[in-house]
Amino acid sequence: MLEGQRTPIESGCPDGFQYMHPLMRKNYGNWAYHEDPRPGVLKHVSHSGDAIYTVRAGTQRILDVFTLRKLCDIGDEYAEGYVRFTIRSNIEYMVADGSKVEPLIEALEKEGFVVGGTKNSVAMISHTQGWLHCDIPGTDASGVVKSMMDELIDEFKNWNMPNRVHITTSCCQINCGGQGDIAINIQHTKPPKINHDLVANICERPSVVARCPVAAIRPALVNGKPSLEVDEKKCICCGACYPPCTPMQINDPEHTKLAIWVGGNHSNARSKPTFQKLVAAGIPNNPPRWPEATAIVKKILQTYKENARDWERLNDWIERIGWPRFFELTELPFTKFHVDNWRGARRTLNASTHIRF
Ligand code: SF4
Ligand code: SF4
Repeated sequence: MLEGQRTPIESGCPDGFQYMHPLMRKNYGNWAYHEDPRPGVLKHVSHSGDAIYTVRAGTQRILDVFTLRKLCDIGDEYAEGYVRFTIRSNIEYMVADGSKVEPLIEALEKEGFVVGGTKNSVAMISHTQGWLHCDIPGTDASGVVKSMMDELIDEFKNWNMPNRVHITTSCCQINCGGQGDIAINIQHTKPPKINHDLVANICERPSVVARCPVAAIRPALVNGKPSLEVDEKKCICCGACYPPCTPMQINDPEHTKLAIWVGGNHSNARSKPTFQKLVAAGIPNNPPRWPEATAIVKKILQTYKENARDWERLNDWIERIGWPRFFELTELPFTKFHVDNWRGARRTLNASTHIRF
């Protein structure tokens, strides 16, 4: 370690207060209300009478150092030197002086950044790592986001939606990401193909066997070497065996698809939290622009925009009109893939002839 360099702290993120705008620190826990002066701008007013403006711009999440420096230079020159990143990769600038808001927006737009993502807009899509930064992705979540946000830019910049829309993408079927008003997730459609030559050298077989949620993996001897075998009748193609044992090849250009789920809501602010439900399966995983998935997302958004009541979230709207009507309006086919027939899901299974939605 170089002289004078601090010892790294490996116990989590640093205390955020030291980076907060002083006016935010002063009024912490004392905010009275907020207003939305225009898309991409929030005005928070405290009980003490102080007010602070937040200007929000979308970024691509995985940022190169040049873009980061540019964003920081804008913050130093046009804002008051304080920024934060939201969970959806937006950068936010805080300014106490309201006259700085418009020049700041102009500076951001001049450099190609898009201001918006507040109130009843389509917020920046949150995404997982994709090909750049993870060892198991079946698609490039960042690429899907870029392609979709290029087409949804007007919905980010304006307040046209009935309520907020949160979209997520996730690049494998089992780990991070994937719960929102609309979620675009990887869907594997075939069991893993095992590279038997590599299993003995790379994998801890008991860990791989233990990872399978349906006990479909067994140790086996193949060509005289310790390997594994999969009971394909049991396998639900989840991909959980692939992270601890890469020879369990599940990613495949043809059989790794995208699926779209809707109606997920973490918050219980106005209605109960909800799980999302599958509405489109087997969509081609088609880089670099993923046109098929984007077309379906746009169709869902357009139908929601035209049919939902003011301030109805996507899940509230579907709850009111019912799932059959949702499929009718969006013209999405209802297929066998929408029926939950996994034998471990007996409690949720529609096993009778009564259709329950
Ligand atoms: S969703 Fe899966 S593949 Fe994507 S970053 Fe997370 S763990 Fe990796
Ligand atoms: S894909 Fe999932 S269900 Fe199939 S063998 Fe691997 S862990 Fe088991």
